[in-house]
Amino acid sequence: MTATDTSPAPVRKPDWRDNAACRHEPSELFFPTGTTGPCAVQIEQAKAVCRRCPSIDACLTFALDEGIPSGIFGGLTEDERRKVRSNNPSNRASIDAFTGTSRSKAQPMTLAESMAAYTEDVDGHRLWVGGLGVRFQNVTYTPNQVSFYLDRGVWPTGKVMRTCKTAGCVLSVHLADEEERTRCGTTGGYQKHLREKTKSCPACRQANTDADNRLRRTGTTKATV
Ligand code: SF4
Ligand SMILES: [Zn+2]
Ligand SMILES: [Zn+2]
Repeated sequence: MTATDTSPAPVRKPDWRDNAACRHEPSELFFPTGTTGPCAVQIEQAKAVCRRCPSIDACLTFALDEGIPSGIFGGLTEDERRKVRSNNPSNRASIDAFTGTSRSKAQPMTLAESMAAYTEDVDGHRLWVGGLGVRFQNVTYTPNQVSFYLDRGVWPTGKVMRTCKTAGCVLSVHLADEEERTRCGTTGGYQKHLREKTKSCPACRQANTDADNRLRRTGTTKATV
């Protein structure tokens, strides 16, 4: 707007922008001019505002739908939004994860926070006590998928199944995706030897021992990933 522009501001219906946490912040904060040094600090500051914004889901949807090419919207930079738009689940792994559950839309949590908030450790297992799924970037994932992702750093291939017998357990070392279920050198591979009554190979035995040790170390504490 210029000093000579006297046209009245356009009237619009109330929407998610009215609750935006950024409406009292300088808009430059959300338009960093780079990604390193002071700009990296600025990006984190902007994302911190988004993280407490009740409109984060609507804002991100808007930015993705409109293909907004610059600035931070819905907690994501333009590069991060581009990765989401490419719709490749493995790309989502590299972005800062938010989840808005229907119970706490006003306080989006990271995937790790949701895993910590909605699980209880019982007898060496970790039980999921939340809802059926976890919303993340407009996709609903199963608790198993989220637990797997947080532990392995990549989204699973195929179905994630329990390797223990405790219903509702989402302890990451008790989960295996399709690839792990068929690959030697994993707890899934070890289970496969047992199921098929074949002799377990050294790689599978080692994986099983590692998982046991890890379970002993993490057995009664919540995930701190
Ligand atoms: S998510 Fe971030 S950019 Fe979007 S409205 Fe909220 S604070 Fe503003
Ligand atoms: Zn278990
Ligand atoms: Zn094996």
